[in-house]
Amino acid sequence: MPDSAAGTAYHAPVTNDCLFCRIVAGEIPATIVRETDTTLAFRDIDPKAPVHVLVIPKVHYADVATLGQGDPELAGQVLATAAEVAEAEGLLADGFRLMFNTGGYGGQEVFHVHAHLLGGAPLGPMLA
Ligand code: C5P
Repeated sequence: MPDSAAGTAYHAPVTNDCLFCRIVAGEIPATIVRETDTTLAFRDIDPKAPVHVLVIPKVHYADVATLGQGDPELAGQVLATAAEVAEAEGLLADGFRLMFNTGGYGGQEVFHVHAHLLGGAPLGPMLA
């Protein structure tokens, strides 16, 4: 099996060596705030804002580039779940940030694609 942590385009329902696949499988605890047939949203364990939720597809894609090219419909479902969580968390009026760290230069540490949903306070300029 290809190494998912190497950022390959490999995808599967669950990979044994992937932290977020193990959260999907219920093997590692997480505070889940929303779940659909295809996506999962849970609170970041090290929040960088008053609201910091990670939104992932349940199947494994290494990053947003492989997800966006491999399954655009699923990518849209991730965005829809992020929007639903933003609404449920009361972020729509004041705004929020949604971002995908991607690859080494992008600061990605967990190679199962995840959207960071951040809000609840002014976040400042993106590249400060
Ligand atoms: O985008 P990047 O890969 O750097 O972000 C990974 C995120 O996953 C971090 O914000 C980290 O706090 C979070 N994380 C988590 N639960 C874990 C392990 C990491 O929320 N069990």
